[in-house]
Amino acid sequence: MAQEKTIWENLKPDEEKKLESVSSGYIDFLCRAKTEAEAVDYFIERLLKAEFQDLEKLDKLKPGTKFYLNHTGRTLAAGIVGKNELKNGLFIIASHIDSPRLDLKPKPLYEDSETHTALLKTQYYGGLKKYQWVNVPLALHGRIFTKDGRVIKLNLGEDEKDPVLLIPDLLPHIAKMQHDRKLFEGIAAEEMNALAGSRPGDFKEDKFKGQILKILKEKYNVEEEDLASADLALVPAGKAREGGLDSSLVIGYGHDDKASAYTSFRAFQDISEPEDTVLVLFFDKEEIGSQGTSGSQSNFLEYVATVLLHKLTGHSDNFHLLSLLRKSNAISSDVDAAMDPSFKGAHDEHNAAKLGSGIVIAKYSGYGGKFEGSEAPGEFVAYVRRIFEKHDVPYQFGTLGKVDEGGGGTVAQDFARHGMNVVDAGAPVLGMHAPFEIASKADLYSCYKAYRAFMLH
Ligand code: MN
Ligand code: MN
Repeated sequence: MAQEKTIWENLKPDEEKKLESVSSGYIDFLCRAKTEAEAVDYFIERLLKAEFQDLEKLDKLKPGTKFYLNHTGRTLAAGIVGKNELKNGLFIIASHIDSPRLDLKPKPLYEDSETHTALLKTQYYGGLKKYQWVNVPLALHGRIFTKDGRVIKLNLGEDEKDPVLLIPDLLPHIAKMQHDRKLFEGIAAEEMNALAGSRPGDFKEDKFKGQILKILKEKYNVEEEDLASADLALVPAGKAREGGLDSSLVIGYGHDDKASAYTSFRAFQDISEPEDTVLVLFFDKEEIGSQGTSGSQSNFLEYVATVLLHKLTGHSDNFHLLSLLRKSNAISSDVDAAMDPSFKGAHDEHNAAKLGSGIVIAKYSGYGGKFEGSEAPGEFVAYVRRIFEKHDVPYQFGTLGKVDEGGGGTVAQDFARHGMNVVDAGAPVLGMHAPFEIASKADLYSCYKAYRAFMLH
């Protein structure tokens, strides 16, 4: 049965420890993996320790073979060959590992001599409320690729001794020019400029910008133009932590969708010798529509499935691939909206997910008249309910908000396209897409149990 009570009220004494272990592991993950590339690094480090092998380098696959495939360091698949090999299709859990943030523009650095400052121009990535991202300490994460083939990894602003960046908002005393702006327009995109420096260097012109370039040269041996061949982003600086006076919550950057990525990976780590072949997928670019080589609209899944088919059965033709994908089953593991206690009016109270009531099964996504969403067939929702109940997983049903309030999509449609069964299911989150978001430890634990149950089915 879907939950009426909270998970806390039904928690068995021996489950408390596991719940705390999942949430403390998750907090550590959130601190280490703020970008898709950092998440892929985190997962691969653990897969290698557990003796997973590169799928492309494996000759022969057999039940129990543990494999992974890394695409561009931004998208990842990991799996275990089941006893039934591919007879019943694949059991897939797919999440995304990118989160809303502020990317640096290709020519980010400029000087404003009038205000004695050097600044970095940003471009927001994903659907965020820009006004939330000003006056928040920001860390610089990413990689710079130089012409001579060097890769410089940056992670600046997380260590207590590191400096952080900040986009200053106008002080309230003289903010009359902002009074008539609507909330969402309080800060315009071209006003999202982060302070990079205020100390002049010994140069004839561009003294402030020159000083920053000098530091970049000395510290990382990079030129200004190298910033154009880079993936650099500003993300909220600081650690994820426990939240609430009762420590029932986790507050951190990137619950969307690291909560699903971590709990599905953790569940996957606890599986051995599955009946059917399981696959966990971690995609980039979901926050901007899943396009691109590392997004779920790419042919990454088809490629992984083709390699698996070829190495298990000797077949790699289109007929066998399409047949495999059509009989596969997937959970699109993505977070949902928890009903906001101060803005209940945005939700349909009867269909809103509640914090602490477990993983949210979202039968469909999209906006308005279900436009641009993906809907799971009723019989597949029934199948997932049966699995969850068999494995004692607390869950709830939910829709994102009032029909005419807005909406959103997930990677589900890119799986449904192949004719497979797929449903969205993930943790309810408060304050989604804000620099710091809120999730319940109980829901994270429910997600862990749910994803594990699906893989075992
Ligand atoms: Mn998401
Ligand atoms: Mn999102």
